[in-house]
Amino acid sequence: MNPVRGLHHVTAISGPAQENLDFYAGVLGMRLVKKSVNQDDPGTYHLFYADAEGNPGTDLTFFPWAQMAPSRDGHGLSSEVSLAVPPGSLGFWSGRLQSVGVEIGAPEVRFGEHVLAFKDTHGLKIALVESHSSLGRAFQPWEDSPIPVEHQIRGLESARLVEASLPITASFLEQALGFRLLGTEGEWHRYGIAEGQSGQYVDVRALPGARRGAWGTGSIHHLAWRVDDDAHQAALRGTVQNSGAHPTPVIDRFWFKSVYFKEPGGVLFELATDGPGFAVDEDPAHLGETLVLPPWLEADRAAIEATVPKLTKPSFI
Ligand code: ZN
Repeated sequence: MNPVRGLHHVTAISGPAQENLDFYAGVLGMRLVKKSVNQDDPGTYHLFYADAEGNPGTDLTFFPWAQMAPSRDGHGLSSEVSLAVPPGSLGFWSGRLQSVGVEIGAPEVRFGEHVLAFKDTHGLKIALVESHSSLGRAFQPWEDSPIPVEHQIRGLESARLVEASLPITASFLEQALGFRLLGTEGEWHRYGIAEGQSGQYVDVRALPGARRGAWGTGSIHHLAWRVDDDAHQAALRGTVQNSGAHPTPVIDRFWFKSVYFKEPGGVLFELATDGPGFAVDEDPAHLGETLVLPPWLEADRAAIEATVPKLTKPSFI
């Protein structure tokens, strides 16, 4: 089997869109590379934050569903997303976050790497990881970011999964997607692809007595895994199905093609192709500045623009 390549994007649920933009572009200094709408709920934005070019694996996206209740912790959810920062930069980040009133956790070391954990404006758990292997990743710094290039977020590092059963989810990760156990530390079990470098692993723990978690503002909606192309996606869709999950047909998301399924513990996964990418319909110098719609929603543009809230440029703090 030809495994997934690593994280393609992570999508989460936020509160009001402007507050989300102010935090991710203004505080964390990620670039808004695409301002679009949820294709299944076009009255809601879909905001994509990434490096300057929107390289696959750098992309954290949000559905601002401000009317939702806060998420409920429990099993069957991805409970935290981690973002890679260069080694030696957590001192900068802890100062910056505290200067804007973000409550930060005590410094941690996870599997030998320094980690700073905190929550975003709407309760999403984020961890910044001083990731040595992130230095070799495809990354384009964003020159207009408020963050100096040497401290900028370099992409998605990983995510945590909380499950009712470790063996059931672990065997699915191994058999359907090509992961292997890389190590265990405390209650966390690290599963990765290849050498499990930055963007190529998840940490899983079992909480068998917990209740089922539920989506809400501040929760991760799904984890998307990179596949090379249509053929790779079709092959993995087959192994997912043979492993007992129920994948959707291929859905054309315009910037990539997607297949969705829940892993047996209940976390929503996606297989997303690397291409064609975010520059297919916008000048790379002006990504994210205007509302971009896939061609099949263009006819509804006026109604959509009247529904979604106006966004203003975040003030860089
Ligand atoms: Zn997705």
